[in-house]
Amino acid sequence: MDHLNLRHSLIAAARSLQENQLGVGTAGNLSARIEQGYLITPTGVDYEILKPADIVGMDLRGNAAEGDLIPSSEWRFHQDIYVNRTDAGAIVHTHSPYATALACTRQDLPAFHYMVAGAGGTTVRCAEYATFGTQALSDHALAALAGRHACLLANHGVIALGENLAAAFKLAQLVEELARQYTLSRMMGSPVLLDDAEMEINLEKFKDYGRQE
Ligand code: 13P
Ligand code: ZN
Repeated sequence: MDHLNLRHSLIAAARSLQENQLGVGTAGNLSARIEQGYLITPTGVDYEILKPADIVGMDLRGNAAEGDLIPSSEWRFHQDIYVNRTDAGAIVHTHSPYATALACTRQDLPAFHYMVAGAGGTTVRCAEYATFGTQALSDHALAALAGRHACLLANHGVIALGENLAAAFKLAQLVEELARQYTLSRMMGSPVLLDDAEMEINLEKFKDYGRQE
């Protein structure tokens, strides 16, 4: 079986969603790019019983090229992101509670904290609503992701992408943490938003943040 290590990494990441408070049950799905397309979690299978052969290999034309199981119902947005975003090496989709609660209000996450720049823009946009698993949802998600590495999905959840699985997972965690902080801050009053000029400075600083050389 090809990409055995990557299959194991997808399973480990899927299992750790719950312990990281990023969702329960089979909510969410994960994928990683490979040469011929991408590997993705199957639809509706409990992460605890997932084995490497259950991860579905997809090409970029909507075909399951490898595996016996049916791919995640959200394969359309995974595919469209890989086709349109060369910066995406992996995608983590969650229903993490605070970010999802915010997405149910159909609001963007504004520039209330400088770390919002960690998702690549001055806000984390909330995509327009569409039914899960549809092409319309994929179209809305792609629009909301323009110039960003993450977005909210109205009445649904979060998409985070990264150059690899670890980066995409970390960003899904960051979006959830920011949504939690934003919720707390709104409970205490009206958070003061950073202006675009300040966010541009933060975005610039993020380009080499964490580099040690
Ligand atoms: P799948 O089990 O089909 O991946 O669906 C979970 C989900 O989050 C749909 O949006
Ligand atoms: Zn979902």
